[in-house]
Amino acid sequence: MEHKAIKRIVIAGGGTAGWMVAAGLSKALGKVLDIKLVESDEIGTVGVGEATIPTLLTFHRLLEIKEQEFMAATQATFKLGIGFENWRDVNENYIHAFGTTGKDHWTAGFQHFWLKGRERGLAGDYGEYCLELQASLAHRFAHLPRDGIHYAFHLDASLYAKFLRKFSEGFGAQRIEGKIVEVKTDAESGDIRSLRLDSGIEIEGDLFIDCTGFRGLLIGETQKVEYEDWSQWLHCDSAVALQTESVGDALPYTRSIAHEAGWRWRIPLQHRVGNGLVYSSRHMDDERAIGFLQAQVQGKELTKPRVIKFQPGQRIRTWNRNCVSIGLSSGFLEPLESTSIHLIQRGILRLLQMFPSMGIRQSDIDEYNQQNKAEIEHIRDFIILHYKVTNRQDTPFWRGCRDMEIPDSLRHRIDLFRETGRVFRGPNELFGENSWIQVMLGQGIMPEQHHPTVDLMGDEELLRFLDGVRLPIQKTVKQLPMHQAYVEKYCGAPDMR
Ligand SMILES: Cc1cc2nc3c(=O)[nH]c(=O)nc-3n(C[C@H](O)[C@H](O)[C@H](O)COP(=O)(O)OP(=O)(O)OC[C@H]3O[C@@H](n4cnc5c(N)ncnc54)[C@H](O)[C@@H]3O)c2cc1C
Repeated sequence: MEHKAIKRIVIAGGGTAGWMVAAGLSKALGKVLDIKLVESDEIGTVGVGEATIPTLLTFHRLLEIKEQEFMAATQATFKLGIGFENWRDVNENYIHAFGTTGKDHWTAGFQHFWLKGRERGLAGDYGEYCLELQASLAHRFAHLPRDGIHYAFHLDASLYAKFLRKFSEGFGAQRIEGKIVEVKTDAESGDIRSLRLDSGIEIEGDLFIDCTGFRGLLIGETQKVEYEDWSQWLHCDSAVALQTESVGDALPYTRSIAHEAGWRWRIPLQHRVGNGLVYSSRHMDDERAIGFLQAQVQGKELTKPRVIKFQPGQRIRTWNRNCVSIGLSSGFLEPLESTSIHLIQRGILRLLQMFPSMGIRQSDIDEYNQQNKAEIEHIRDFIILHYKVTNRQDTPFWRGCRDMEIPDSLRHRIDLFRETGRVFRGPNELFGENSWIQVMLGQGIMPEQHHPTVDLMGDEELLRFLDGVRLPIQKTVKQLPMHQAYVEKYCGAPDMR
């Protein structure tokens, strides 16, 4: 491999991924790099991807993006978690909230205290010990001192791309409109040399970032990097998206409502609601999915229903030679836990940490790919958990999920929690103890035992400990303003005031 200095960066694609990459690179290295982004209005973007997780705050902090400005520009609302309806069984609901639940002891997580409390009739629902969860149920939100509440955003994806475009251009990134008609490679090395546009212009570069969406024009179509398929575990392969007018106040959480062959999302923004139905095409055809979604949504339809096909999985190498794929071109996990934008951000931060200014080294590529693989496989397991652990047996789709084999890594986590109540977070894993416990309990796994530390407490002491968590949460939540009112005051977009 040539070790030539990397100065010219070409980003192919201007969806959420492309503009997040442009924003990250231009802010960090805009002064020393020449950054160009090519996008085609004619092709457009995937047009979905509107629910996020709290890590986006870190990205914005690094970029010094002002929250109020960003929220007003993208019609954003706050998000405290995801409500899972009908997942464990029809008419059974739970919330996977951000933040933490209760207080851990150094030997044992809070769940052990709760398990004993429950056994002794001293504890309420597990969710009563989580501030973000209680605030979600009460539809309330406010910033609290010392990062006292963990949150993310619901945002309008196309407005977010526009917002980031302005930001990136401010740091020197250059946008080029046009359709890429040819990706030229060096016959000997296989490196990408340039992109030829329909206008005839040719854009040369040293490092290419493939953000062309599912198509993977550079990494897949040109470099032929294979795609590992995960459909044996994740049976959904289609979605239909539909925007509607808002009805009622915006909830501070995403709704994920399971149905006979998948699930439906509802994402409330300031100016509209994003809706979608995710389904397995083996169990539901597109026409039925569209009708099903249209029958469920509230509010006037603002767009035509749009069907999107996908394949769950990942590229076996997300960085290949002088091409790094970020976004949908690099792999896809359904948006059940709103993790795609997070993975884009992780790709950007990793690339910045390993930026090959003195030339691309295979050791960097290997490290990048290995880290990326570990991160996405961890998220994959977490998503599979929602499907595998269910009491639903009402349709062939759910019976197929219950009966499927799962990865050993996930099997181990489930067994460990069921048998001992224990959960451990590995290095660089996105989902921590709180997430695994909320979802495992929510899906119906009740551990068989608790940690012996808890038995050192008598009933009275245990009750005092549990109520010492629960009651202050109740008090705080009562004092929070309603989410809708808070958004209007804090970051209302111009047409909302
Ligand atoms: C149904 C669904 C729901 C989702 N929901 C969520 C969610 O709630 N939260 C979340 O985090 N993520 C979600 N995602 C994922 C999220 O949408 C994507 O990660 C995000 O939008 C990034 O997409 P992208 O930029 O990689 O691709 P795209 O948006 O498809 O952008 C591709 C870009 O490449 C350009 N392009 C392609 N070919 C060419 C060419 N030949 N010449 C020039 N330009 C070209 C296009 O014009 C476009 O600008 C969802 C995805 C799907 C499918």
